[in-house]
Order: sequence, then structure tokens, then C-alpha cells
Amino acid sequence: MRIGTVYKRPSKNAKRFFDGVDTEKADFSFFCGSCQRPIEVDLWDFLSRASDWEEKLSPEVVQTIKREIEFPTVLEFTKSHEGGQPYLAINACPHCSHNHLVYIGFYEFQPARYVGTLQGVYEVIT
Ligand SMILES: [Zn+2]
Repeated sequence: MRIGTVYKRPSKNAKRFFDGVDTEKADFSFFCGSCQRPIEVDLWDFLSRASDWEEKLSPEVVQTIKREIEFPTVLEFTKSHEGGQPYLAINACPHCSHNHLVYIGFYEFQPARYVGTLQGVYEVIT
């Protein structure tokens, strides 16, 4: 796996797309890098696919990701750019099947208050 075009670059100041409780409906969207159509992603489905990504993805893929995305670290822990927990998964465009590596930051900002931020979208070349 290689990372191709960077469609969205991580930023400390990226805007949240979610700020609420973990029982409400939530989604986020980005534009397909190939056909330009919007891709809607269910937040909770994404989180379940993207949790433990360092264990789920092959060591080679994890290494590629960490080389491309310079995650901030606190002690030895990998953080997302806005200070939360990074979640990564591959999302194919439902219209044209173009593959995207999607990176969001998500964490419990205050007790029972969760925030989500879309940090990065990258072209995946396999
Ligand atoms: Zn597409």
C-alpha cells in the first residue's frame, strides 16, 4: 500500500464535525478524490472499523501511515492532531470504488461529551 494524493492534511485547528453524546446519530463526509462526489460515513460504524487500527492493519501499512502522517505523541502514545485519539480506516467511494485512507480524531472531551474531528483523507494505492 502506498499513499498517493493528500486530499486533506491534518491540522491542530481542524473543525469538529461532532460534539455530543455517544447515543446520537452522527456522520461525517468528504469528497471523493476521483469522482468528486460526497461520501457520507456513519461515525459509529467508522469508529468500530477503525479502532485498534494499529493491530488490524499489517505492520507494513501501519509503518507507511506513520511515515506519511506525523502523529503528535505524548510520552509513547500516538495522539490525533487535535489532541484526541486517532482512528484510521480505508473507505471506498460507493460511486466509483476509489480508495481513501480516512483519519479522524475522536475522544471524550468532558465526561459523556465526545468530540470528533476529520483530520486527514489520503488516496490509497494498492
Ligand atoms: Zn468516487
